[in-house]
Amino acid sequence: MTDKQQDYYECKCIACGHVFHTAKSILQSDFEMNDAGSGTCPNCKAFLNLTFIPEENQMKSSLWDDYLKTKKKAI
Ligand SMILES: [Zn+2]
Repeated sequence: MTDKQQDYYECKCIACGHVFHTAKSILQSDFEMNDAGSGTCPNCKAFLNLTFIPEENQMKSSLWDDYLKTKKKAI
């Protein structure tokens, strides 16, 4: 049994511009649901949706409320 390598990706907080590093969620890494991440900015504590951008190899953050609005539009 081998431990799965945990990769951390750069993420810039949409609310305050703070750059932090975050790992993919299980849904993002195992199910390739790139927008299935969430987290809290360690600087301003904003609750964020985290979307993995494969082309840029980084996480894009958006405010959770804005993310829900775009999700509703898509349905
Ligand atoms: Zn922030």
